[in-house]
Amino acid sequence: MSSPLGSVRRPEHTGDRRCWPCTVANSLVLVAVSVAVAFVSRVAALAVLVLGAVAIAVRGYLVPYTPHFAPALGAVFPVDFHEEPGPSGSLGREADGEDVLAALVAADVIVADGETLYLTDEFRERWRREVAALRELADGRFVAAVADAAPRASGARVERRRGHTAVVVEPDTGSVTDERRLAYPVALAEVGAVRALAGRVSDPGIRAAAAEPLRRFLETCPSCEGRVEETTAQQCCGAPTNPREGPQAVLACADCGERLATL
Ligand SMILES: [Zn+2]
Repeated sequence: MSSPLGSVRRPEHTGDRRCWPCTVANSLVLVAVSVAVAFVSRVAALAVLVLGAVAIAVRGYLVPYTPHFAPALGAVFPVDFHEEPGPSGSLGREADGEDVLAALVAADVIVADGETLYLTDEFRERWRREVAALRELADGRFVAAVADAAPRASGARVERRRGHTAVVVEPDTGSVTDERRLAYPVALAEVGAVRALAGRVSDPGIRAAAAEPLRRFLETCPSCEGRVEETTAQQCCGAPTNPREGPQAVLACADCGERLATL
């Protein structure tokens, strides 16, 4: 039986995905409006309060377009508006996908079965070992490994903000606009992949370019070893999605929630 609230329910903003700062902000607005209405009519104020509370409960928010303006509010007020980092950058620069795939097949990293591509067990194990070794490194040695794996990089640095760790690859051009920001688990996966490819794929540009497509083969999380599953990008208030494109299919860790690849 379909619920009468079914058509107004917004599962993407409620339940596990509810953004509490948005809920609190909307509740405060609702109380303020109800108090204002109470000067005119107490019955109307009660109706506003009840209807507003129902809307916040089933829709996740009341004020229209909260998911669109909340990130801007979050930047002004010292409230964590559940900032959802966008998709991570990658070590590699533009490369021909056919060349990368051909190199990976020739190196016995990937095998094709009809339309489906698989990672060889041997490469997966080698990659896993490299990632495990990188995870043990202190920041200084880790950023050296990142800079070493990234083509045309002069260095790298670790940045920690709001509980989110990113690795920034500094380009040899010295231009800030050429910097690439990788989420920490993505950096682990990509640098591990580049290192696992050493000795198998001779072109360092192809090794770096292969790192991003290889992330789609991850089965365990590079940072916590949790199970990787296919899901959709979180549509919280911090990350309004493009309504024309719909929710984006991503690979994310079932344990820590880190987004590991966009499908
Ligand atoms: Zn994880």
